[in-house]
Amino acid sequence: MALIVQKYGGSSVSDAASIKRVAARIAETRNAGHDVAVVVSAMGDTTDELLDLASEITAAPPQRELDILLTAGERISMSLLAMAVSSLGFKAKSFTGQQAGVITDAVYGRAHIVDVVPHRIRETLEKGQVAIIAGFQGVDPVANDVTTLGRGGSDTTAVAIAAGLQADVCEIYTDVDGVFTADPRIVPSARKIEHTTYEEMLELAASGAKVLALRAVEYARRYNVPVHVRSSFTHVHGTLVTSAPARHTDDYFQHYREANVEAPIISGVAHDRSEAKITVVGIPDVPGMAARLFEVVANAGANIDMIVQNVSAQATGLTDISFTLPEGDGPSTLDAIRAVKDELGYAALRFDDEIGKLSLIGAGMKSHPGVSAKFFGALRDAGVNIEMISTSEIRISVVTRADLLDDAVRAVHTAFDLDGDAVAVVHAGTGR
Ligand code: ADP
Ligand code: ASP
Ligand code: MG
Repeated sequence: MALIVQKYGGSSVSDAASIKRVAARIAETRNAGHDVAVVVSAMGDTTDELLDLASEITAAPPQRELDILLTAGERISMSLLAMAVSSLGFKAKSFTGQQAGVITDAVYGRAHIVDVVPHRIRETLEKGQVAIIAGFQGVDPVANDVTTLGRGGSDTTAVAIAAGLQADVCEIYTDVDGVFTADPRIVPSARKIEHTTYEEMLELAASGAKVLALRAVEYARRYNVPVHVRSSFTHVHGTLVTSAPARHTDDYFQHYREANVEAPIISGVAHDRSEAKITVVGIPDVPGMAARLFEVVANAGANIDMIVQNVSAQATGLTDISFTLPEGDGPSTLDAIRAVKDELGYAALRFDDEIGKLSLIGAGMKSHPGVSAKFFGALRDAGVNIEMISTSEIRISVVTRADLLDDAVRAVHTAFDLDGDAVAVVHAGTGR
């Protein structure tokens, strides 16, 4: 008997029939003798629809109100799921993030979880009942206001609840069979990864593989929570993310010990369409300019990713600095840079949201020469021009034109022999 936290994503609970199907799966887990705490996302594309609705009211909705609006999505699914589980003869109770003891900071829209005090969840489990928790939300105890954790935040709720309850495993149920070597929606020949480490999963998630939210992986690594990403539409084994799978001795992990897969050189290719590029043209190439520019950008609240500075033309002593950031942070960041135009003395400011980022990830990169050469060769053969490059010990990322991104992903995936024999099934979801 184990304590299992199960998280069901939006595509797994998109309508009444899916909610009943998920309830049956929870009942199955209870019948197998396990304690279950469930974290649930909003139904289908509800969060996007609520965002669309808000933007029809105003271009700049107050953050506090937007968070209250978005938390409504998970309240609908949690209560319906509790009803569905109850109708199967199990006692089930739903809880908002606040009721579940998910404490966050005060940053509306992308709050960090600072603590989890899951007394009510523990009590519920001790009575043999199923606890169902709204994902993606918490409470800022200072203002006593509800907050949301950023897109994909239900994954983080699930891992945080698992850590708070010291659960044996956190299962992330989604619309694909696990984490693949690339997004199956773009690369149908992508292969399922049997197990991977927190480090590789961190790079994949940070590079845009939205199957698992980045903060959820960070949280799992910090508290050493084993995460099992799997489909709610099949019973096949998914992808296990741990520090060292073989360490786990209980039955649950037997499949992964037996699989004993040799660590590959490359674990996968990720892509990201959500970023934009700002170029500050003709900025004086003197000490302190980059420091001042990025101070202004940081104060605007933007999380920048890649940075490139051109070699300055000697005759002019001017240079160009380009950086990428989440597309949504574009307007406020541009305003902030425009406000200090005289101080920075640049000539022009450009904004480009037609970019895509492609990343190759693999721990084996550290010790195998030639990975970069093969990577750039594949992009050349696919006719893809590279606009920016950044690397870490286990990742190479490039920025390309957005319309070439899918072809580039497939070309790199093939060049590194990642294609499998079977077609990677996408069971549901709109990919939104
Ligand atoms: P959920 O609603 O269950 O949270 P998400 O849409 O957030 O589901 O995440 C699942 C989706 O992530 C898949 O449908 C797939 O298109 C996408 N995805 C991107 N990269 C990968 C990858 N490497 N492996 C699996 N899925 C991926
Ligand atoms: N419903 C939220 C979103 O769509 C949180 C989540 O599903 O993880 O981002
Ligand atoms: Mg998700």
